[in-house]
Amino acid sequence: MEATTETDIRLPALGTGRLFAAAGPGRAAHEAAYGARRDDWTREALLTELEASGLAGRGGAGFPAWRKLSSISGRRPVVIANGAEGEPVSRKDAALLRRAPHLVLDGLLDAGEALGASQLFVYAPADALAAVAEAVAERRDARRVRLVEAPRTFISGEATAVVSALEGGPALPRDTTVRLSTSGYRGQPTLLHNIETLAQLALVARYGSAWFRSTGTREDPGTRLVSLAGDVPADAVLEVPGGATVREILQAGGVDAASTAAVLVGGFHGAWVPAGGFDRPMTAAGLARYGGRPGAGVLLAVAKGRCGLTAAAPIARYLADSSAQQCGPCMFGLPAMAAVVERIAAGERTPWLASEAERLAGLVTGRGACRHPDGAAGFVRSTLSVFRDEVHAHLGGACVQGWQR
Ligand code: SF4
Repeated sequence: MEATTETDIRLPALGTGRLFAAAGPGRAAHEAAYGARRDDWTREALLTELEASGLAGRGGAGFPAWRKLSSISGRRPVVIANGAEGEPVSRKDAALLRRAPHLVLDGLLDAGEALGASQLFVYAPADALAAVAEAVAERRDARRVRLVEAPRTFISGEATAVVSALEGGPALPRDTTVRLSTSGYRGQPTLLHNIETLAQLALVARYGSAWFRSTGTREDPGTRLVSLAGDVPADAVLEVPGGATVREILQAGGVDAASTAAVLVGGFHGAWVPAGGFDRPMTAAGLARYGGRPGAGVLLAVAKGRCGLTAAAPIARYLADSSAQQCGPCMFGLPAMAAVVERIAAGERTPWLASEAERLAGLVTGRGACRHPDGAAGFVRSTLSVFRDEVHAHLGGACVQGWQR
């Protein structure tokens, strides 16, 4: 492979970058920006390059991409590009599928060829899938890629829910004790990656690990997409260098960090980071103090003067309403927890409500068939911790927004 230097494509910087380097979503623009795809990857060669790159998953857990790929063994493996993007304020995966569908397909094909995959899928909501269908029609090497529509629900992108949907069942989590890497789609070994992870994998495969690491930091190499929302001038999808601080990302989105009280990082299963943490990098290590991590790449801003607790209550309710009510914690625990948060937000002067919310968060944690209750409990704990002054004020009958009960 001929090495491609950074000057061959647009340099990544805050707000611009590698993943959106093509002038349009079509094949010609894609190849003009990135050149031809290398199609001779072996499993070992791709694993070596991925491990050296340090690429971590961009969908939630941040698992090393090489480790996930190396866990696939057995006959007739399957590779799935997951673009379900159930996070309500996340826009990055849809933006990537619409603007760079060929890059996602490249990554899917690279992984599929390295594994000798028997089937390849792209799973995404209908509007984003339309762009992928056009891209598939433009190339011969992607004809075996199957496109499957993902319903617009919070949990439709959970790994076992994805497999269930691809098999024709409901897009709901199922037995999460069985590893997809050994028994996923129709019992076959299954590699499931977020679509941004696959697009990044395509870049590693094209340009190599050293190039990938030429931006970002040693701990967080490359770039990542961030969906910026909330109290911002305009919702935006930004491509930022790894290791960028929360403040840098806010500024890249035109947000005055000095006027921002806190941001929810990672998504609705994420954690709040108060203004005092804005100079920390948006990485798991950087945000560990707050229990945060990049997750699905969401930054939801709450402006100063707006009550974070009041902003959090509808999210707790949304999470309670988002399960399929298959397990006890989701049937009873999450609605009860959301109701307590709503009572605090409404200014009910009942002193034990905060400890009751903590108690319910503890009760649901680790009790579901999937990690949805854990994520919801983590969000509520973070709300009670970061907005403790607001909680205290509400329980005393007042709010930063000015009302008094
Ligand atoms: S824990 Fe909740 S979201 Fe997960 S499978 Fe059970 S009911 Fe569904």
